[in-house]
Amino acid sequence: MKIGVYPGSFDPITNGHLDIIERGSKVFDKLIVGVLVNVDKKGLFDYPERVELIQRVTAKYKNVEVRCFEGLLIDFMKKEEASVILKGLRAFSDFEYEFQMALMNNKLDPEVETVFMMTSAQYSYLSSSAVKQVAKFGGRIEGLVPDEVIDDVYSKILSL
Ligand code: ADP
Repeated sequence: MKIGVYPGSFDPITNGHLDIIERGSKVFDKLIVGVLVNVDKKGLFDYPERVELIQRVTAKYKNVEVRCFEGLLIDFMKKEEASVILKGLRAFSDFEYEFQMALMNNKLDPEVETVFMMTSAQYSYLSSSAVKQVAKFGGRIEGLVPDEVIDDVYSKILSL
């Protein structure tokens, strides 16, 4: 069974992420969305909330699972018996960082392969931080995040 892990912060999940998840679910027997716990960075949503939002919008994909992980990605991969890291690539800006990460993960565990999926053109400008900026100043986030997540983003920002 080919198990892939799609890691990220997903704070919150965007339509760009969801597009990679949907396409990735067709490539792997099982795709695990791994929400990376970063103890040094306080996000908008806490980790159980991020997981719940992703679960809500991926419930229709039967081979997609969502969990949090802390520490090294390759240790999480081992635990989940996954062999492939799935990454989304937006533009040149993602490339240098992702290239470095892929080489480092391969160095740490040569059995692990990183696979890049090119963003769909209509989401190439989209990031979680851009969504948060727009929402914070009252802009519309329809089309940027899944419909089921829109109200959660606005109410979370209002509660700050
Ligand atoms: P963000 O930069 O939006 O905060 P994450 O750190 O959660 O996103 O990213 C997780 C993964 O999803 C990374 O591999 C990132 O390159 C990819 N990704 C994020 N946004 C998009 C997008 N709009 N299209 C394709 N891939 C994306």
